[in-house]
Amino acid sequence: MSAEKRHQTTILQLLRDARPRTRAEIARTTDLSPTTVGRVVARLLDAGILEAVQLRNGAVGRPAVMLRLSPELGYVVGLDIGASNTRVLVTNIGGEILFRCSHKSKTYSDNHQFVQEITGLANAAVEQSGVDPARILGLGVAISGVVDSLRGHCFFCPNIPGVRDLALKQVLQAQFPHPVFVADQSHTYALAEKRFGAARGVDNFLLVTVGIGVGSAICIEGRIYRGEMGLTPELGHITVSEDGPLCSCGNYGCLEAMASGPAIVQRVRQALQEGLYSSLGTLPADEITVETIAEAARAGDKLAFSVIDRTGQYIGIAIATALNLLGPQLVIVGGGVANCGELLLDAIERTAKIHALHVISPHVRVVRSTLDEYGAAWGAALSVIEVDLSASLGKVALPARVGL
Ligand SMILES: [Zn+2]
Repeated sequence: MSAEKRHQTTILQLLRDARPRTRAEIARTTDLSPTTVGRVVARLLDAGILEAVQLRNGAVGRPAVMLRLSPELGYVVGLDIGASNTRVLVTNIGGEILFRCSHKSKTYSDNHQFVQEITGLANAAVEQSGVDPARILGLGVAISGVVDSLRGHCFFCPNIPGVRDLALKQVLQAQFPHPVFVADQSHTYALAEKRFGAARGVDNFLLVTVGIGVGSAICIEGRIYRGEMGLTPELGHITVSEDGPLCSCGNYGCLEAMASGPAIVQRVRQALQEGLYSSLGTLPADEITVETIAEAARAGDKLAFSVIDRTGQYIGIAIATALNLLGPQLVIVGGGVANCGELLLDAIERTAKIHALHVISPHVRVVRSTLDEYGAAWGAALSVIEVDLSASLGKVALPARVGL
């Protein structure tokens, strides 16, 4: 690669987060000389890859000329295949969502059918979004399951029957003329939190999502950790109660078996069967859900309150373990169970602080995710831009003299 191309790649990699920067800032951050930055930026502007925007850098003074990737340069498709719902969206290269839709997740007879569903949904989304298909830069797929995000290999998906041991990235790559990124939902969700959510500007944080299962991801020094095998940490399978119920992984008393949505409902049902009093006792069995339990707890129901408080304690114990190991100061809690709100979050923070090392505890903040149910799909789209922008841009018909 020529020196000029290397400089171009360096600048584009820096600007891939879509934050506008001045020429001086680009030179400072990349260690390139102002003259080189000026020359390369001029060519990228000329080619329509960058655009200049006038932004005020502070309350006073003239607006500065800032540079960013031209948002219409290309588009990315993000898919999130969850246990209940599948979400699809299309963003521009700046991460702005241009189209999104949701479908009920299906059951699949085999891997082949699953792949067909993904390609069908991705193609339909591009068509419905109205963007130029020739400017699609890549496809990001988030899956509820155990996924090697380095190789895009899906080991198994406990909540998506029929899908097992699938080299998904490889298979999709053969069908799409674009870079493909495949990861588990927690990984991509954390990416979206980092770019646009509660972890914006934060380099070290822990994400815990509690819903039908318990997912987690950890960001260390600005990168979502994925280890040698490309896996996200499995906080959901830390033992939090040795005499707890059997977990889907075969162990007893894992966090997932104690604190997931189904586990919460099960604990309330069991308490009612044992004759404990609760306003929930008047409801038909199928109306006892995490939502109705949280509602009852807020209205002062003691059983509902104690189950949610206890759930928060279990989550807090697992989080304290992660804090002691890695020391992130921000913990983000997402997923449907997080909708229990302050009641749950207070219990998590209180317990995490009690169990974490005393030097760590005072600095720990537990906050609720600010993303909606499209967070993992959004992160899947962003992952393509994050992971390999140069490869993505290489697929766009750029003027030959730019030659990425
Ligand atoms: Zn387990």
